[in-house]
Amino acid sequence: MALERTFSMIKPDATRRNLTGAITKMLEDAGLRVVASRRVWMSLRDAQGFYAVHKDRPFFAELTEFMSSGPTIVQVLEGENAIAKNREVMGATNPAQAAEGTIRKVHALSIGENSVHGSDAPETAAQEIRYWFSDTEIVG
Ligand code: GDP
Ligand code: MG
Repeated sequence: MALERTFSMIKPDATRRNLTGAITKMLEDAGLRVVASRRVWMSLRDAQGFYAVHKDRPFFAELTEFMSSGPTIVQVLEGENAIAKNREVMGATNPAQAAEGTIRKVHALSIGENSVHGSDAPETAAQEIRYWFSDTEIVG
């Protein structure tokens, strides 16, 4: 399979606990390469735009308030099968159901404050990368 890119975020619960390096190391150890990275404190409006797909879900307000409650690291990751590989190393949405050794099993606090985001498909990866990065910011 050819090199693929995916979009990743280290969420505010993790930056607050100084886990940026620990989480990035888990991504790198899984074979993913950070080809773009920026620290952002997103506005509520940015969070609402980014998570628009979830706007009718009961947790939308909680999610967008949490995501704008502190700094986030937005990243583009590159590697073989990067989208699926990132989802695998992240673990299940609910840390109680996440596999041993995954980022969410090791670091997440709850189903909401679950430390990382990762795109779930090629279309969303492209869209989410474009939401946060211009082409010149991505250096492979
Ligand atoms: P993901 O792709 O594994 O991140 O999960 P989803 O796309 O289903 O949900 C997006 C994000 O919304 C999750 O990562 C959580 O931060 C949050 N979320 C999902 N379900 C719940 C829930 O039941 N309660 C709360 N508070 N947050 C949730
Ligand atoms: Mg998702």
